[in-house]
Amino acid sequence: LTVIGNRPQFVKAAAVSFRLREAAEEVLVHTGQHYDAELSQVFFDELELPRPEHLLDLGGGTNTEQTGRMLSALAPLLAAERPDVVLVYGDTNSTLAGALAAAQMRIPVAHVEAGMRSFDRAMPEELNRVLADHASDLLLCSSAAPAEHLRHEGVAGEVVVVGDVMVDVAQLLAPRARERTAVLEACEVEPGGYLLATAHRAGTVDDPERLERLAALLVAMPGPVVLPLHPRTRARLEAAGLLHALAGVRVVPPLGYLDFTALLLHARAVLTDSGGVQKEAYLAGVPCVTLRDRTEWTETVDAGWNALVGLDEDAARAALEREHPAERPPLYGDGRAGERVVQALLALRER
Ligand code: UDP
Repeated sequence: LTVIGNRPQFVKAAAVSFRLREAAEEVLVHTGQHYDAELSQVFFDELELPRPEHLLDLGGGTNTEQTGRMLSALAPLLAAERPDVVLVYGDTNSTLAGALAAAQMRIPVAHVEAGMRSFDRAMPEELNRVLADHASDLLLCSSAAPAEHLRHEGVAGEVVVVGDVMVDVAQLLAPRARERTAVLEACEVEPGGYLLATAHRAGTVDDPERLERLAALLVAMPGPVVLPLHPRTRARLEAAGLLHALAGVRVVPPLGYLDFTALLLHARAVLTDSGGVQKEAYLAGVPCVTLRDRTEWTETVDAGWNALVGLDEDAARAALEREHPAERPPLYGDGRAGERVVQALLALRER
């Protein structure tokens, strides 16, 4: 039984669900953490994800309220379905609730993207990662560094490096996405002639002062900036009366995976506070400027393709002027992580 609930999890599950269904029965639970068409349905359509067997409506509220509601809803569902394994992805409230509800019922838990650490406990995602990992029986890691973090923390479960499932999806869909230049035309930008930006994390958008700095930074960047605006960020901008502060930035609605990847593949560089987008920029060979002080995707920084600038305008400008390295080693596997996840799940079931 797989628990997913938001945009990056739909992308990750796309690498696993169809393979899992060839080898076993999967029950897909969508918590409804992201429920808008732009953040949910388009991903099910484009990534050919199976329709969830259970579509819940547990979005909204604080992290605590949301996690609590999810735990209450998942417990009876797990009791009825009695799965052999519960599979969770990433670092959201759906991840933690799925892992904890299963562990409390002594159902084995497998966590994909285990061991990622920003070492910033102020991020709600960091708390979710750490707690989900310590509730898991099978910890599936994207690379060697997270596996090392887990060993250091002494987790109880088995740690396996499988590679990153987003690599599978990126490899599969990049050729199709590259051709989708209509989205560039709609944004009135030329290949290689614009910056792509995303921002949605609490640490970037919840405090109006930081939000204003974000807007000022984006406006000050050289050349056109395309910003597919996350609904959370739009709501915060509206509440703070700051939408006008983005004048000059090409603000578009949140995009489906293919259009977003098209914009990413053809961008001169990416500015983001997203975890997944840092990784996807690296895979695409597009320099990334991360609007945070820390990242869990440290290998991309060490490789010279990602720079951490916080919300410092000058640092962002300097990062954009940097030459990118000639080398781009395959940090996150070979695009066959989904297969290894399925094998590890089947082995866990046999134990
Ligand atoms: N993404 C998308 N459309 C957008 C912005 C992002 O399809 O307008 C995709 C992106 O390609 C990546 C995922 O959403 O696969 C990242 O999700 P997000 O930034 O919301 O979450 P995070 O990775 O920070 O947890």
